[in-house]
Amino acid sequence: MDVIRTTCAYCGVGCGVTAGVVAGGDRGVSISGDPKHPANKGRLCSKGTHLGETVGLEGRLLHPRVDGRRTDWDSAFDALADRMRACIEEHGPDSVAFYVSGQLLTEDYYAANKLMKGFVGSANIDTNSRLCMASAVAAYNRAFGEDVVPCSYEDLDAADLIVLVGSNTAWCHPVVWQRIEKARERRAAKLVVIDPRRTETAEQADLHVAVAPDGDVALFNALLARMAAMGLVDRAFMAARVECPADFWDGLDGDPGVDPVVFEQLCTLVAAHPRMVTLFSQGANQSVGGTDKGNAIINLHLATGRINRIGAGPFSITGQPNAMGGREVGGLANTLACHMGFSEDERAAAAAYWKAPKICTGPGLKAVDLFRAVHAGKIKFLWVMATNPAVSMPDSGFVREALERCETLVVSDVIADTDTARRADILLPAEAWGEKNGTVTNSERCVSRQRRLFDSPGEALADWRIIAGLAARMGWESAFDWPNAAAVFREYAAMTGLSAARGLRLDLTAWADLSDEEYDALEPFQWGGERPLAWRFSHPSGKARMVRVAPACTTPDAAFPLRLNTARYRDQWHTMTRTGLSPTLSQHRPEPLVEVHPRDAAKEGLTDGSLARVMTRQGDAVFRVRIGEGQREGEICVPMHWTDAMSGGGRANRLPGQGVDPVSGQPGFKNSAARLIAV
Ligand code: SF4
Repeated sequence: MDVIRTTCAYCGVGCGVTAGVVAGGDRGVSISGDPKHPANKGRLCSKGTHLGETVGLEGRLLHPRVDGRRTDWDSAFDALADRMRACIEEHGPDSVAFYVSGQLLTEDYYAANKLMKGFVGSANIDTNSRLCMASAVAAYNRAFGEDVVPCSYEDLDAADLIVLVGSNTAWCHPVVWQRIEKARERRAAKLVVIDPRRTETAEQADLHVAVAPDGDVALFNALLARMAAMGLVDRAFMAARVECPADFWDGLDGDPGVDPVVFEQLCTLVAAHPRMVTLFSQGANQSVGGTDKGNAIINLHLATGRINRIGAGPFSITGQPNAMGGREVGGLANTLACHMGFSEDERAAAAAYWKAPKICTGPGLKAVDLFRAVHAGKIKFLWVMATNPAVSMPDSGFVREALERCETLVVSDVIADTDTARRADILLPAEAWGEKNGTVTNSERCVSRQRRLFDSPGEALADWRIIAGLAARMGWESAFDWPNAAAVFREYAAMTGLSAARGLRLDLTAWADLSDEEYDALEPFQWGGERPLAWRFSHPSGKARMVRVAPACTTPDAAFPLRLNTARYRDQWHTMTRTGLSPTLSQHRPEPLVEVHPRDAAKEGLTDGSLARVMTRQGDAVFRVRIGEGQREGEICVPMHWTDAMSGGGRANRLPGQGVDPVSGQPGFKNSAARLIAV
């Protein structure tokens, strides 16, 4: 048996995995946690433990298909290049777009970004990470001048108080949760959970603050005002390291919007524990005010000096295994590459580095706007890589229409029959986890290797090779003629010299000269320094910035009086194309449930286990009812994983609208006006 160290395919915790691969080529693999990986030190959750059950070939896309017919790569590349070239010639570069994924490896992301922004000449490349943590990125950019997470998992080990905001960590980031439990055991660290729902995580907290949906800014502003009133602002740190608008403190001490007794308990805990990490996730980010929430959290840490210290900081935890790698290379439409923006100087530097014939002129369309442009016929050629927007985008009914209207829809994926792949004109087989070879970056900026365990089945190729194949057909071969993933990584790592030269912290140049052998043997490493002590922030002054943020105001809606939240289940991942293959994982929650408060259930005559239809202005979906006090009255919650075919009409993401955060463009999945009727 070969033992290969690799990284889990699922979430942004980025756990190291030791894979025992059975010789003989039947894809048998035994999985255990890698004790040497700093993210998990040997621990795994149920999804990671059962990775071996999801590497079979059931449902795999094995050969290219063009217009419904199987073909070979030569013909597929010809069709791809002909259609893209014709589209650019007739309608210009902005008629082309890529919608990519946090499932891609950094090398894939780098190749896609380079092709779009330097060779097609558009910045219309956005990623499904837009749905996950774009608001945290925007908040970090506003506060620090760069998208830099100023924490490490080790800070959780050292904290005296851990505050979770909008995170059901016990289910969604289970290995981080195990680490938090250890800190509580060893150091008697206190745990606060700020979440409208009494989740499995909140159940175990020292204090659960049942904030209203989108009530986080009001809460954090009031909390900071109280800390100031208690004399807990760190004046010396503020003077040395923070820019603060003159009117910042005006009106900060408003209504916190939560039970006054609970607010007093929260203030007491926060005042007593300067070693405090605030870990925030999708509950904060997936909101039309998500960026402001991030800055409200960061403001508290800056003002009290709870940052740049061991055991302290505002820590955004990402959803996908390589959301961070995508952020780094430029997979978001509002970043050029390597954390750089679109100034003339930055575009010229990137164009020179890439020897690019046609550098993009400015930011591209973010996910929701990108699909609107497809729907409106402005984008005519769309390539979807490793994601399933027909199920995962908000208002997914509208997105399905957009996909059907698209002149050329290209899908590269590992699964042959997703709701998105079904609509493709050109379908391209990509390598899956266990076949891919490259790097990912986790939530704490730790870069680790995903390594190949098996031969690729059929004609599946690495995503970066597919992108390079198209580039060659377009006449740009010399810029994409990498012999292997190590060469792509070296080129990306060397390019971060451009960001470093501009005072940004993203700097991987120390890894730019790795030999192929060194890349193969690469141990996990954290860019930006292992400990964020005495960090210089990336604004020109070297200081961080406090950002004034105003509480959100939700208008009551008589026709749709309930507030709908969406969430994840412990053992499922995204649209279940992978975890749905594991019988063990499917046992935890075999079907999607709508969680309802007992009084709301009584109003509609719903009983536990009955069926109910959830309706919003965008659409409706059917779920089995689960009645419980974990849900606040007037609020309901459904899981986001299921398609209609799997659940008899329980596709949750047809329910949220297209509203987005005005700064980050992240959709507001978490607070939709809804109503509920018995079926
Ligand atoms: Fe994989 Fe995330 Fe579980 Fe770690 S916590 S084993 S990365 S799913």
